[in-house]
Amino acid sequence: MASMEELVRLMRELEDQLVVCMKCGMCQSVCPVFDQTGREADVARGKLALLGGLMESMFDDPEGVYQRLNKCLLCGSCAANCPSGVDVQEIFLKARAILAGYMGLPPAKRLILKGMLANPALFDRLAEWGARFQKLFTRPVNEIVGTSCARVMSPLIQDRHFRPLAKVPFHNQVPFLDKTGRSGLKVALFTGCLIDKLFPSIAQATLKVLDHCDVGVYLPDNQGCCGIPALSSGDLPTFRKLLAHNLERFDAGEFDVLVTACATCTSTIHEVWPKMAGPKSREAAKRMADRTMDINQFLIKEAGLKPLAGKNDKPRTVTYHDPCHLKKSLGVFTEPRAVIDAAPGYRLKEMVEPDWCCGMGGSFNLQYYDISKNIGEKKAAHIQETGADVVATGCPACMIQISDMLSRTGARIAVRHPVELVAEALGT
Ligand code: SF4
Ligand code: SF4
Repeated sequence: MASMEELVRLMRELEDQLVVCMKCGMCQSVCPVFDQTGREADVARGKLALLGGLMESMFDDPEGVYQRLNKCLLCGSCAANCPSGVDVQEIFLKARAILAGYMGLPPAKRLILKGMLANPALFDRLAEWGARFQKLFTRPVNEIVGTSCARVMSPLIQDRHFRPLAKVPFHNQVPFLDKTGRSGLKVALFTGCLIDKLFPSIAQATLKVLDHCDVGVYLPDNQGCCGIPALSSGDLPTFRKLLAHNLERFDAGEFDVLVTACATCTSTIHEVWPKMAGPKSREAAKRMADRTMDINQFLIKEAGLKPLAGKNDKPRTVTYHDPCHLKKSLGVFTEPRAVIDAAPGYRLKEMVEPDWCCGMGGSFNLQYYDISKNIGEKKAAHIQETGADVVATGCPACMIQISDMLSRTGARIAVRHPVELVAEALGT
């Protein structure tokens, strides 16, 4: 639990940040949750008003305030559209940390976050164990999308179509790497939990494309989660423990840029680490944040990836979904499209509102699956309208949600990362 001194400090910071909101309501029209529920309480302005009286409401109904704050995708659409520059995500994360610090975490979250996520080596072992036995409880349901569903109805999984755990996680495929490249550039690769355990092919594709660009790679072993699942549940101590762990793993190597192929990890390291780090690691977190880039951005802006030569007489159609954490948080949206353009054999066709949130929002999907599904179905419809064979996106969390939504309709559309399309053209 965060110390009382820390909670008071966060509360003071929150008060200063809340006065910036001028209650104009511009955030309403872009909020995917408000779009579904039509409730003012669900939009940024409603939540910020609630936080204005946080001290009183915390004593009256802490659980109610926590629930209302949790009904948010942390998509950043409101902040991107806010004329006053209110940092909504930072405010919500601090408020959740204050509330969780005051009330304590629910037992299930405590077990998952403090018992598992906070211990990277144990998390790896449990995921490996899960991958071995998952076939007993799940069955494949859509070969093209790559989804499975539960054999027996379970309250957690419900009727979701999900991407199964990889047979061999990336950390066992490539445990450690430290090599130079002819370009003289060297990156550190932050793998991220979802890519490591569900989509190791994205990490393999990343290595292949970096090698094609003659870029050296440092890949430390025993990497941890970026910490955002803990922080979005208000578990500031676990977030800071993971931050310290990762800083220690990466500070041991020499590299120019830290890259990740996960939009959520990139935005967490770039935006959240310096703001939410403790006093001891704030400077180191800021230094790491300043040299962190999305893989698409790095390949186009730094590594000079150019369109590959190849046969293109019958191109497959690919459409691109903008992850909120790339476009709205980091302003990265041209580079993933340029990476797709570099892949011969694909022709990009834009969908309607490519930057409309997919509705995943991490634990939001677990807690508010009906709303999450309604938002995601709109996205799936926009993808299907393009007639695309493939939908590409730069975030594995979006890939999970889009896979679920497409698979439920029986769509035969593959869900890929842009770097995978380029790696495909590079062969084995
Ligand atoms: S757009 Fe910004 S200033 Fe306006 S109500 Fe929303 S958060 Fe407040
Ligand atoms: S972060 Fe997204 S879901 Fe949350 S209030 Fe802002 S726009 Fe709505």
